[in-house]
Amino acid sequence: MSESAAPVGVLGGTFNPIHHGHLRSALELVEQLALAQMRLMPCARPPHREAPSCTAEQRAVMAELAVAREPRLHCDRRELERDGPSYTVDTLCSLRDEFGASRPLCLVLGYDAVAGLDSWHRWQALLDYAHIVVMARPGWNWPVEGAVAEWLAAHRLEDAAGLRQRPAGGVLPVQLRPLAISSTDIRDQLAAGRSPRFLLPEPVLDYIEKHQLYRSPGAPARAR
Ligand code: ATP
Repeated sequence: MSESAAPVGVLGGTFNPIHHGHLRSALELVEQLALAQMRLMPCARPPHREAPSCTAEQRAVMAELAVAREPRLHCDRRELERDGPSYTVDTLCSLRDEFGASRPLCLVLGYDAVAGLDSWHRWQALLDYAHIVVMARPGWNWPVEGAVAEWLAAHRLEDAAGLRQRPAGGVLPVQLRPLAISSTDIRDQLAAGRSPRFLLPEPVLDYIEKHQLYRSPGAPARAR
């Protein structure tokens, strides 16, 4: 398969804020699976959780700052350009239009994201548009029972070569470098006046400081 037909990865998230757990995983996947690129897709209006504490525009700018020096990672703003809830199936449909019917697409989800997959809008249609690559995440396990577990098992690929044999429809579990970093922890540290430095890229931390994001009123002055 030529480079131009190599699979394209899609990592959706709230990215509130983006951190090294997202970025390292994205880069390792590009290299391990020989992806042409990874699209980091900030979610404008997450259907399954409370509205994030900063705007979609701010979360997208932080993602752009984070990937600025790595040409294989891109921030894709298409969910910010749509009205209504940001359903992943609609995003994949739009990517399919962009890349054409035969280009393999790989939707990347962490173990925590697949755990609640059956509450997603048209979740079983996801495989009509893309493969699903499931990455291990510290503190979470592969689902072993229930509708999602059965569905994942039914579509499981033997190895990464399966991602190139058809454009969509397979499930591939992958083990990457485990990094126990979460946006929740970073927000909590900032709200408590502690420094999350080295858990996320420095330009992202600079942006957070400049715009005084995730600050709780009355918190002590923040250590950098
Ligand atoms: P929050 O703590 O606010 O829930 P988060 O750190 O889980 O945020 P998201 O933006 O919700 O970040 O995650 C986007 C995607 O990246 C999800 O599929 C999630 O499973 C995955 N992910 C996030 N952090 C890691 C990590 N440290 N290791 C592996 N996967 C991760």
